[in-house]
Amino acid sequence: MDCGKKCPKCQRAIFTKQLDQYMTCPSCDYGFRISASDRLGWLVDDFKPFDTELVSQDPLNFPGYQAKLARLRQVTGLNDSVATGLATIDDVQFNLGIMDPTFIMGSLGTITGEKITRLFEDATANRRAVVLFTASGGARMQEGIMSLMQMAKVSNAIAKHSQAGLLYIVVLTDPTTGGVTASFAMQGDIILAEPHALVGFAGRRVIEQTMHEKKLRMICKPPKMCWLTALLIRL
Ligand SMILES: [Zn+2]
Repeated sequence: MDCGKKCPKCQRAIFTKQLDQYMTCPSCDYGFRISASDRLGWLVDDFKPFDTELVSQDPLNFPGYQAKLARLRQVTGLNDSVATGLATIDDVQFNLGIMDPTFIMGSLGTITGEKITRLFEDATANRRAVVLFTASGGARMQEGIMSLMQMAKVSNAIAKHSQAGLLYIVVLTDPTTGGVTASFAMQGDIILAEPHALVGFAGRRVIEQTMHEKKLRMICKPPKMCWLTALLIRL
């Protein structure tokens, strides 16, 4: 039975069979969240994954964390919240990273940061461009300060890639927030956004709790025209 889903943007009820491979709402073009493996399936002609052997540690002995990681590794086929590798479209090769919103909300863990860092280091060494699809609820609380340190580590690798004169393109997907927005999601030479993707630093719940204000108007969802529109070009 096709249970369907409700579009969070236009509120229209949609049968799953109405959605195409891009998982966009037929009414308003909202892009439903999709896994890294689904996106990879239609995005590139060939993909050779990097660093699939890396495994997250549990530095805080956070209750239930290891079990959660084990289950998500099985469900997503990823070792953490980002797929990285060498991608090919026609005869163009580039380094590609896709964050997976279904893996602890794409949160930035130690292995996520390490994989993205190595993605840039490999691109710098081989003089390739990097394309990164971001999707994240922010730093991963189960790894505490270790996850926050990834922001600086990835940023350093991006700086070296940039100093080598190489191109970095970011595609913001729903949601891109927290430490990811505060670092590598905003450091691209070209930054694109999917229609109606939630992009911001703190999420609605954190802002409401901080400001004690319930009826916040979200002002950071890019409209349809932002798709394939460069928001920032660093000269
Ligand atoms: Zn819609």
